[in-house]
Amino acid sequence: MTGAVVHQRCWNHADREAACRCPACGRGFCRECVTEHAGRLLCASCLSRITLGSRASAGASRFLRPAVLACAGLALGWVLFFTAGEALIALGERAGAPQGAAHAGPKVPRNHP
Ligand SMILES: [Zn+2]
Ligand SMILES: [Zn+2]
Repeated sequence: MTGAVVHQRCWNHADREAACRCPACGRGFCRECVTEHAGRLLCASCLSRITLGSRASAGASRFLRPAVLACAGLALGWVLFFTAGEALIALGERAGAPQGAAHAGPKVPRNHP
């Protein structure tokens, strides 16, 4: 009969009865010592450990950020280059004979008989 129900005390407060148990470390805590995180009631130490762990995994995604930025920069540069080229072509078509094309055009010999 005795020993079946153990009234656990809070890990932090010896004078308080444990209201729930931390699923991560299995220690009993009172309501004030646990914080709800992702639907679970975790103690402060486990919460900080888990949040630190998630922060570490967030740091791993930080390694991917330069690659994403590079891709975005390439895409942006391509779009800018493309639109600039389109604008230049449109300008050239509007001006009729673009000056740039004259330099790059076929050479006409000056002293031709
Ligand atoms: Zn815990
Ligand atoms: Zn407590």
